[in-house]
Amino acid sequence: MTRDQAILCYNLFEGDRDSDVTIFSNKMLVSRKQHTCVVCREDIAPKTRVRAQTERDNDDKIVMTFYVCETCCSAIVELVLRGNDEPISTRTALGMGK
Ligand SMILES: [Zn+2]
Repeated sequence: MTRDQAILCYNLFEGDRDSDVTIFSNKMLVSRKQHTCVVCREDIAPKTRVRAQTERDNDDKIVMTFYVCETCCSAIVELVLRGNDEPISTRTALGMGK
């Protein structure tokens, strides 16, 4: 598995919600605008390589894109490729505190 595959296979909302969702796209890209990371809630600067997941909430009929910052992507790699869940737990806790 490559680094990108590891990042992309991570479930962003594990057990977190019960709405009916269709994923349109899930890929690595270079951001053009500033976004907020869905994991840590920190700002993502433009021209940063991020994971972007676009999906439609079929209950609310809205389409949204979720971004994951570089630091959180690295934390996901640690988890998926090395089984170390400490970095991603730290990043998630950061987001929950905001
Ligand atoms: Zn982040």
